[in-house]
Amino acid sequence: MSKLKLATVWLDGCSGCHMSFLDMDERLLELAELVDVVYSPIVDAKEFPDEVDIALVEGAVSSVDDEKKIRKVRNHSKTLVAMGDCAITGNVPSMRNPIGPEAILDRAFIENATTQPQIPCVIVPRLLRVVRPIHEFVKVDVFLPGCPPSADTFHAALTALVSGGPLDVSALTRFGA
Ligand code: SF4
Repeated sequence: MSKLKLATVWLDGCSGCHMSFLDMDERLLELAELVDVVYSPIVDAKEFPDEVDIALVEGAVSSVDDEKKIRKVRNHSKTLVAMGDCAITGNVPSMRNPIGPEAILDRAFIENATTQPQIPCVIVPRLLRVVRPIHEFVKVDVFLPGCPPSADTFHAALTALVSGGPLDVSALTRFGA
């Protein structure tokens, strides 16, 4: 049987969800028998592949680049999983919403700068006015709650997704960190 193609994507998040994914420890070896990781911050692929079976997405949509990326991920993935509360609700990144991006940039790059205060405008992607969860941009198939979701949540969800078996939502919620 050919392996499923698994991608993990990092939008505006702290990487804690990816760290928790890695906390599956030896269970990652079992997973590696069933899936190929074709795109992820933890592998070297630079371009999102044309056909992905399962995409796990960490983080909220905060910038024009995030928006472009989540639309591409959706267009090329059979199952899109919002992993963690930032992807599901906006969570920590959305705390800037009442303040607005200008004040945030001023604080970070002008007020707190000790040398050469300036707002970066090259390479750094433009921030959206408000941070929003990914389901406000694209259809999400599975929500894995938690900040971060626990390793047991990842294992339960991926076992179901890879085997095609039923996803026990109550178990996922119970396991959630
Ligand atoms: S849900 Fe929590 S652990 Fe995951 S990216 Fe957001 S803040 Fe980090």
